[in-house]
Amino acid sequence: MLWTGGRILAPLIAAAFYLLPAAARAADDPAYSPLPEPLKIAQVPGSPIYYAIGHPGVPDSANAGNTSNAGFVITPDGVLVFDTLGTPSLGLALLQEIRKRTQAPVRYVVIGHYHADHIYGLQAFKDRADAVVIAQEKAADYTNPDNTDEESAAPRLAQRREALAPWVNDKTRIIEPDIYFGPGLTISLGAKRFVIVYAGPAHSESDSMMMVLPDRVLFAGDIVQNSRIPFMSSADVSTAHWLEGLRVVAGLKPRFVVPGHGQPSTDVASAIAFTRDYITFVRTAMGKAVEDWADFDTAYEQVDWSKYQTYPAFDATNRGNAYRVFLDMENAAFGTAPP
Ligand SMILES: [Zn+2]
Repeated sequence: MLWTGGRILAPLIAAAFYLLPAAARAADDPAYSPLPEPLKIAQVPGSPIYYAIGHPGVPDSANAGNTSNAGFVITPDGVLVFDTLGTPSLGLALLQEIRKRTQAPVRYVVIGHYHADHIYGLQAFKDRADAVVIAQEKAADYTNPDNTDEESAAPRLAQRREALAPWVNDKTRIIEPDIYFGPGLTISLGAKRFVIVYAGPAHSESDSMMMVLPDRVLFAGDIVQNSRIPFMSSADVSTAHWLEGLRVVAGLKPRFVVPGHGQPSTDVASAIAFTRDYITFVRTAMGKAVEDWADFDTAYEQVDWSKYQTYPAFDATNRGNAYRVFLDMENAAFGTAPP
């Protein structure tokens, strides 16, 4: 009886499933496990520009990988997205937030840099929106199998499948860009211009920023991280060039900055000050250690980190950051690399 009932019920259940709205169906798609909480979406005052704000710490199961910011701009001719958050589920949630506000097609997704916490959401924009993905040409190094940096595609995906299960799982895949640019690119869409500027290598090889005109809203990517210890523990990081990138941000004179992590601001000077001051602090401390011929462990213990140790991501990243800068300064002192 039960078996017979199942034969009758199964097609009915399947039919009901496909009559559900896409959001409910997504909950049953193993590629897009349900999120524990909705995204926090805000609008830039006076502009059709929206952004999602993540938690300030490092990606873990408590925050479901929701640690970065992303944005989207609605125009009459379509939507342009900047970054896609750190899991396919978060990317789908971002797409659903767009769909609540417009049915215009998502034309482009611009990626500020190829790191897991900004690109894993791309999968949703390919599967469900068929958007064109744009990134700086150095993003190609991210998926290069010869790249053994722990931040590169394969090692980081293995780590995130452990740390962010079930949201990152065996259905999660890396989406590569459709279009690469060099020093920069300008896109016209609707009545907006999107001026994309390469500002790397800084936090990564492919760091880029996007200014939305005429609104003067800047999506700064991870060049700007407000009140959160930035990740600098990678061979791709150039802290000297990062400081240069922060000067570029100030020179662009945005009226509103959305950082890659942390709170957006209308006060450009204060938005860039945290990242600049932290990088300068670590460089000064480690530069002095190299000058004094100190070994890293001793030098690290002697630095008074109290100014930064209560900020999010300090425990997870500060020691690695200091070590990377120490090695860079040591190489510079021996004339084998730029500082
Ligand atoms: Zn990031």
